Amino acid sequence: MAEQMKKIPDHLINCNPGPARIPYEILRRAQDELIYYQDTGISVMEMSHRSPEFENIIRTAENLFREIMNIPDNYRVLFLHGGGTAQFASIPLNLCPELKSCKVNYAVTGTWSEKAAKEAEKYCHVNRVTPKLDKFTTIPDVSTWKIDPDGKYLFYTDNETIAGVEYQFKVQPFSDTMPVAIDMTSNFLSRPVDVSNYGVIIAGTQKNVGIAGLAIVIVRDDLIGKPMSICPTVLDYTILNKMKSLYNTPPCYPIYMTMLYLQWIKDQGGLDVMGDRSDQRAKLIYDVIDQSNGFYFNGVDPNCRSRMNAVFRIGGNNGDEQLEKQFIQECKERKIIGIKGHRLAGGIRISMFNGMPVEDAKFISELMIEFMERNRK
Ligand SMILES: *Cc1c(COP(=O)(O)O)cnc(C)c1O
Repeated sequence: MAEQMKKIPDHLINCNPGPARIPYEILRRAQDELIYYQDTGISVMEMSHRSPEFENIIRTAENLFREIMNIPDNYRVLFLHGGGTAQFASIPLNLCPELKSCKVNYAVTGTWSEKAAKEAEKYCHVNRVTPKLDKFTTIPDVSTWKIDPDGKYLFYTDNETIAGVEYQFKVQPFSDTMPVAIDMTSNFLSRPVDVSNYGVIIAGTQKNVGIAGLAIVIVRDDLIGKPMSICPTVLDYTILNKMKSLYNTPPCYPIYMTMLYLQWIKDQGGLDVMGDRSDQRAKLIYDVIDQSNGFYFNGVDPNCRSRMNAVFRIGGNNGDEQLEKQFIQECKERKIIGIKGHRLAGGIRISMFNGMPVEDAKFISELMIEFMERNRK
């Protein structure tokens, strides 16, 4: 056993929280096509976004989203600049017709939903449906949410990447006139999804389905067409929909990378397989934590632990910084990188997005056991 543990993998186990690891096959294909895309004689980076070749890339990506996520026909798929963060403004600007007169509901369960709520406050009256939490370790029961019935929508963040808190259920729309708007940036395409439950789904692509610079918006038809008059054109779903995401030059290369990633997800077996793998990876890590007698400490309510980001301390509730430093160093020696906790949370964060094979999570879990056996008092 000890011998086996000294084994060092032949590749880096990149646990970066985003931009995140991309499956090797995808990078390899991108490399093959980097200079000459198929028989065009030029790179995707040099191509007109109005050429038939690029048209084919963006439509293939859209069709793959539709197929993999089973997106109903009355939803549009938009490709936008500005990552997930631009969408924090886009949502109120597109779903609220008037500046400063609409009410909107936000469930604040972590740093990302707090950022989204703050951004929306520039344009709307934001009602925080959840009590102010001093630590983000749980999702208050939906039956206790104080939802303003006049709200134009109800927003939540499906996976809080920094605190490691994830909804393991879907929040239903409050009423016919109050759709759910959801940020799925960090758990996008990591399990099957019922698109029809949501009015708007937003996701930056750099964690689970591509590289930085692109956001995907999946929005129901009837929510398009009533933007605020001040809505910037590049954020305007009505115009982007009319122009099929080609109002201005879109992030062409990120769209191409997302097309490759989607093809890979489909070839692997789709969202059921992505979901199984996410469950397996998360179970490997959390099982070690739960069986460590407090040596590893994860403070998140077990029914809302994130499958994507396992956040924990080493050496008790508040963490022993020396031990944590040593763990990070030993991981580095075994080619495991990107596990230092977010500066707001401290400790360790193992991010396990679609690009991470289950065997790599297993390798990490075995190192965790071995590290514990050596360092437990
Ligand atoms: C990373 C992240 C974002 C921000 O994405 P950007 O593309 O950097 O703007 C938004 N929401 C969540 C949940 C994230 O994890």
